[in-house]
Amino acid sequence: MNAHDLKTWLTHLDERGSLKRVSRSVSLRHELAAFSHKADGQTALLFERTDGAPMLVAANIACKREWYADAMGVAPGELLTEVQRRQEVKIKPNVVTDAPFLHTVIAKDIDVQKILPLPTYHELDGGPYISAGVFIAQDPDTGAGNVSIHRMHALEPDLFGLLVLPRHLKGMIRRAAERGEALKAAVCVGLDPLLLMASQLVLAPGEDELEAAGGLRGSSVDVAPAPWSGIPVPAGAEIVIEGEIPPDERKREGPFGEFPRYYSPAGEREVFRVKSIAMREEPVFYSIVAAGYDHLLMGAVPREAGLLRDLQKAVPAVTDVVLPLSGAGRFHCAVQIRKTNEGEAKSALMAALAAHYDVKHAICVDHDIDIHNPAQVDWALATRFQADKDLFVVPGAWGSRLDPSAQDGVTTKMGLDATAPLGGLDGHFRSLRIPGAEEAEL
Ligand code: MN
Repeated sequence: MNAHDLKTWLTHLDERGSLKRVSRSVSLRHELAAFSHKADGQTALLFERTDGAPMLVAANIACKREWYADAMGVAPGELLTEVQRRQEVKIKPNVVTDAPFLHTVIAKDIDVQKILPLPTYHELDGGPYISAGVFIAQDPDTGAGNVSIHRMHALEPDLFGLLVLPRHLKGMIRRAAERGEALKAAVCVGLDPLLLMASQLVLAPGEDELEAAGGLRGSSVDVAPAPWSGIPVPAGAEIVIEGEIPPDERKREGPFGEFPRYYSPAGEREVFRVKSIAMREEPVFYSIVAAGYDHLLMGAVPREAGLLRDLQKAVPAVTDVVLPLSGAGRFHCAVQIRKTNEGEAKSALMAALAAHYDVKHAICVDHDIDIHNPAQVDWALATRFQADKDLFVVPGAWGSRLDPSAQDGVTTKMGLDATAPLGGLDGHFRSLRIPGAEEAEL
């Protein structure tokens, strides 16, 4: 299934019985989130009416791992290797002049809560949010494009507070500020799952996620200039909110329930001043409940593909990698290897812990362990691991600011080597097998 926009994807989900319509009016305050949470991991939802701005709201559109494979047109077992293969391919976007989102353009008297149905998610959240706004910006020095998701707290009719962690967009804001300029950005709400996934790829600064999205799709992404900034944005977007991030303005953003299932506290943060809102004739707003499957999988799958690439560069014996959802899809990492030399497991673990700041605890297991099955990983830890020689700890490493046990993003990392000694799987570590057990039918 090659869905080039959210509506095509929703139709596809509907045809395979994976979309439920909610026709009665739901409240944007907690109720929409509660319904989404209830259906999480099972079905996509399309809310037809809310008590806010009249607009369709989609949720849970990417809440199953196999849906990402479906969107890529591959079997679920091939997802990671295919993302890994296709992320090496960059395809430049194709510029078009007309796009459905140019149907309605609002450029004055903007009041975001009158125009858009903005949900309030968790109990202690600071207010209504856009949780799935995809920022598209251009580097003030090089012009290189960047695509990234940042939470947006509706603070004033035309102003959002933002959380911008120290990655690519942060650098662009700083470089614009050094010129005394605000950074312009276009925020797309309502995109297809592959574009959302591309926004979460771990790329080097200067690499454009829109080109990576073309690679994931296998064809170029159509882009059209957004009406206020001229920034090329995906032509299939439902809603495009444009504005700027001024260099010196800060407002109190948060708290906000985040992916580790804790509140990220309020703080003085960057703001986004809205200048224009463009949208389709009947747009679909996209809502992500933080820490839900959309949020976790969208982050985990592209990170896993990046990790697999980096790990195999360091240790070719690595065969698979997963960031289990039980570890918030970021903090725990299981690595599978087909050992050819002693020491490979520890090297793979060091590579995993260094490859991404979010990876905090990494475990390495042999190729006979299904790393997607936590019970098997647990069994390897129970039976192939001795803490005095198979464990190492790295204090004071770069970690996640959203991990409440880390200190200002400084964390302690741990590697666990739960592999048998080389050759052990045929000897001392030979596991039980009952001949005929696989074929037996009662
Ligand atoms: Mn980037």
